[in-house]
Amino acid sequence: MRDDICSIPVNDVFLPKCGCPICRMRDMLEERMVEYILGAAMMEPDVRIKTNEMGFCADHLKMMMTKRNRLSLGLILESHLVHMSKEVFEGKGFLKPGPKKSAYSAAKILETCFVCDRVQWGMERLLATVFRLFGSEGDFRALFSEQELLCLPHYHLLIAGAQKDVNKRYLGEFERVCKNLSGNYLTSLQNDVSHFCKMFDYRNSGEDADWGNSKDSIERSAGYLTGRFKNE
Ligand SMILES: [Zn+2]
Ligand SMILES: [Zn+2]
Repeated sequence: MRDDICSIPVNDVFLPKCGCPICRMRDMLEERMVEYILGAAMMEPDVRIKTNEMGFCADHLKMMMTKRNRLSLGLILESHLVHMSKEVFEGKGFLKPGPKKSAYSAAKILETCFVCDRVQWGMERLLATVFRLFGSEGDFRALFSEQELLCLPHYHLLIAGAQKDVNKRYLGEFERVCKNLSGNYLTSLQNDVSHFCKMFDYRNSGEDADWGNSKDSIERSAGYLTGRFKNE
C-alpha cells in the first residue's frame, strides 16, 4: 500500500476559495484512492487482501462504478465475493457458521470500507498540517479566512480537532474564523431558502420573477448539511 497517495499540498487545496476546502480535500483523496485501487493497486496483493476483508460502502462502490475500468472492478469484486461467501456462509473448516456467527461476519463486512478507511487515514494527516500551518504561517491564516464556507460536518471536525492541535496562541482566532465561515454561509442559505419558498406564491409567478440566488438553495443546503455538494 503506497502512502504517498494521500500526500496532497494543503496550500493548493485552499487556493481555489470556492466551496468548503475540507470537502475539496476529501474529494481529492477519494478520487486518488479510487483511481489507485482500480489501477496500480491491482498489482499489490496486500491491497487485495484488505479490499477482500473490508469491502466498500455504497458511496464508494457507486463512485468506482462510474469509472471506466470495469475489468479491475470485476476482479476486485470477484475475490471479495469469494472471501465474503467463506466468511458469512461457508466457514473455513468442516463446520458451517451458525446464524449468530454468520450475522456477526456479515455485520463486520458491512460496516467497513477500504476507501473510507484510507481516506480517513489521509484526512487525519492533512488536517494535522492545516492545524500546524494555521499556528505558524500568517499567509496560510489569511488564505484560510478567505474561504467561501465550511460545511457543517467539517466545521465540527475542525473545531473538535483544533482544541489539541492548533497552537494555543492562535486557537481563539481559528475558532472565530471557522465560526464565521460556517455561520455566515448558514445565514445566507437561510435567506436563499426563504426566498425560494416565497417564489411559489402566485404573486411571484410572472416571467420577470426574481429568483435571486435561490434556485439551487435546496441543493446547497443539502451540501452544507452533509458535506456532499455533488450529486453522485
Ligand atoms: Zn466540507
Ligand atoms: Zn466508503
